[in-house]
Amino acid sequence: MARVLFINAGSEGHINPTIDVVQELISRGEEVVYFSIEDFRERIEKTGAAVRTIDGQKFIQAFLSGGRKYVPERINGLLHTADAVIPSVLEQIKGEDFDYIIHDSMFGCGYLLARILKLPAICSCTSFAQSKAAFNTMLEQLYTKIPAERAKKIQDEFQSLTVSVKEKYGVEVPSPFEVFCNPAPLTIVYTTRQFQPNSEEFDQTYKFVGPSISSKFKQNNFDLDAIKGRNPIYISLGTVFNRAADFYKLCFEAFGNSGHTVVMSIGNRTPLADLGEIPPNFMVKNYVLQTEVLKYAKLFITHGGMNSTHEGLYFGVPLIVIPQSADQPIIAGQVAKIGAGLTLQMESLTANQLHDAAEFVLNDLSVHKAVAAMRESFQKSGRNHQAVEEIFDFKRQNNISL
Ligand code: UDP
Repeated sequence: MARVLFINAGSEGHINPTIDVVQELISRGEEVVYFSIEDFRERIEKTGAAVRTIDGQKFIQAFLSGGRKYVPERINGLLHTADAVIPSVLEQIKGEDFDYIIHDSMFGCGYLLARILKLPAICSCTSFAQSKAAFNTMLEQLYTKIPAERAKKIQDEFQSLTVSVKEKYGVEVPSPFEVFCNPAPLTIVYTTRQFQPNSEEFDQTYKFVGPSISSKFKQNNFDLDAIKGRNPIYISLGTVFNRAADFYKLCFEAFGNSGHTVVMSIGNRTPLADLGEIPPNFMVKNYVLQTEVLKYAKLFITHGGMNSTHEGLYFGVPLIVIPQSADQPIIAGQVAKIGAGLTLQMESLTANQLHDAAEFVLNDLSVHKAVAAMRESFQKSGRNHQAVEEIFDFKRQNNISL
């Protein structure tokens, strides 16, 4: 039995895939202390882990204080979170011993904490993995789009933040990569190698265990009998970037009064009244149990969130991805690259274009073949069982008590 320090922050996408892994670690005798924000206490406690919290408000404020417009500003934001996370964690674990640390790939200053505590470290990566070379190339390209004065300001801030981290916590921040990707000697990636872009860039320290598909934390308010045998088109922009009345109306125009049954989940930010008349072949809801609806769907029009994309492909549903923000353009690009669907751009989207894209995806054999291959790779993956096997191998290699 070993004591594990788990560091994360607060976001469904970064926490949910870890839940089954933590539960399995505990069932195999590990003692897990899991740092998160208060909102996730209940779901983490159910695994048997001891939950300790960091201040969610302070964390978000620190993150946003770096700036939101450009990725390098968000990197500074992540460095700003050091003061919201590190002293609080160190205070709460004072006098305790841990055998190893598992930390999120983005939130929670895991790279720094692993060094401060001198613990063997495992990175928990809930989006695609990024190699240092690819990250640096991306950063260089991003900087070419930032006005020179602002770029200099961002770089100066990064330098002064790294100096301050060194002074306060005694650890070096080698480069933005360590801040944004929190690399570790073992990285658990919750997708398969087949879906990971440029997977050849990742050596055996990256373990692709497959997506975590779960409806554990979700509620169902949707009568699935209404779609059984009707193979609906399912439309959702996820839970964050879903305020999009114009897009939903465009979907009415593209598919209204057609032979397709359409289920559309619009979230809580778009009043139903803003959508006008709903065509009779549409079922519009604020929220549906997506993992159930997808079992019946023939096409998924999605924003390309990592969870939604995994869920669609896991159930063998071809995709039309209309990315909104965050890592979604990269995910959309990968869906198009593997041929499991098409990508469209929200800004220039027309109803005709959406309609034609749907007909293409529904009828193209190569799309269905690519989807079936990805479905197989996801369904065959070892998920939390493999993750825990990899963690135990890592323990053996690091002489950590088994
Ligand atoms: N989801 C759901 N019902 C809905 C909308 C979303 O169950 O009506 C779930 C979906 O199954 C997925 C998550 O919410 O697990 C959305 O995560 P994703 O990473 O796709 O996007 P985000 O909401 O973080 O942008």
